[in-house]
Amino acid sequence: MPKGARLIGSFRYRNLRYTKNHPLRVPRVSLLLELLLALGLLEEEELVESRPALWEELTLFHEEEYLRALEECDRCQCVKKDYRERFNIGTYENPVSPAMWRGSLLATGSSIQAVELYLKGYVAFNPAGGMHHAYPSRAKGFCFINDPGVTLQTLLKEGFRRVLYIDLDAHHCDGVQDFFYEEDRVFVLSLHQSPEYAFPFSRGYLKERGAGKGKGYNLNLPLPPGLKDGEFLYVLEKSLTLIKDIYKPEVYVLQLGTDALKEDYLSKFELSNRGFLEAFDLVRDLLGEGVYLGGGGYHPVALARAWVLLWCRLSQKPIPEFLTPKAREVLLSVDFEEFEEDVDRGYMYEKLLDPPAVGEVRREVKRLVEEAIGYYLF
Ligand SMILES: [Zn+2]
Repeated sequence: MPKGARLIGSFRYRNLRYTKNHPLRVPRVSLLLELLLALGLLEEEELVESRPALWEELTLFHEEEYLRALEECDRCQCVKKDYRERFNIGTYENPVSPAMWRGSLLATGSSIQAVELYLKGYVAFNPAGGMHHAYPSRAKGFCFINDPGVTLQTLLKEGFRRVLYIDLDAHHCDGVQDFFYEEDRVFVLSLHQSPEYAFPFSRGYLKERGAGKGKGYNLNLPLPPGLKDGEFLYVLEKSLTLIKDIYKPEVYVLQLGTDALKEDYLSKFELSNRGFLEAFDLVRDLLGEGVYLGGGGYHPVALARAWVLLWCRLSQKPIPEFLTPKAREVLLSVDFEEFEEDVDRGYMYEKLLDPPAVGEVRREVKRLVEEAIGYYLF
């Protein structure tokens, strides 16, 4: 039995935002905390204050030269042309802002705190984590420090030999995959929008299965647009059952980006938060407790509602059916530019759980899963 649930977070993220007009400009962790407090779902002892990652933790994944460049850019809040070219920082995608270095340090420290708490017998969730696109010496896809990579390396350092990484973000985890591509001590499983139509475009195909001694320890499930709850659960159940059998993971890290939700304007998936929660339940039913990280998610209200649901599960509290007036006030006060103006999102301010997003499992999805499983049947 776990000792209890812990949420690793901080209100300091409020002042560590991305630049104006950036998709990650929106409040996320601070909004989640405010919403949980407004709903009376977070006890004082359940909230663990985030701490920044240490240099020697960052270098478990990153090159020192890159880290020094980030630090330097943070000091002046500016970027040299040379750094922009070499490290991909100071671009529209990966702008210089207080989030870049100080925000990433906190998010990464929190992921290590999640591991430490997990090892002590707690269930721990770091909503600021899951920045899976960053490379050892290159920023990518809004990510500067690859905290899942640091987390996995920390578990290897602790002596684990079969670590499973599961990524439920709508985008492929290219930075994590490429780093562990030749590693058999880490199995990477990712469900995502196919790179044929979605970021990161160059990675995430089924044929990428690892190399060298890591061959067979990487499984990508690139999925078509319009994915609904049933399809997501179908693919997750089939692939996880297979991996559980063949790999027998000792521990797992779960990336819980919310951009697969239907409200998210940066993805073409159409999950309800009920389906998202069922996916979370499925992973825990099959594998027990793991280390839980956040991830993408660009509609702040959808994100906060979904993560509240996860937190209810982790802390074993019943999910409130209706939002309290105070909770509604928190959500209505979010400073967020809605990009789909003609869509009525009124339901998001009434209840927590969405109705399910119903749909058949399409033939192309079944075929993809069959092909993936086929790789392991010889
Ligand atoms: Zn994403």
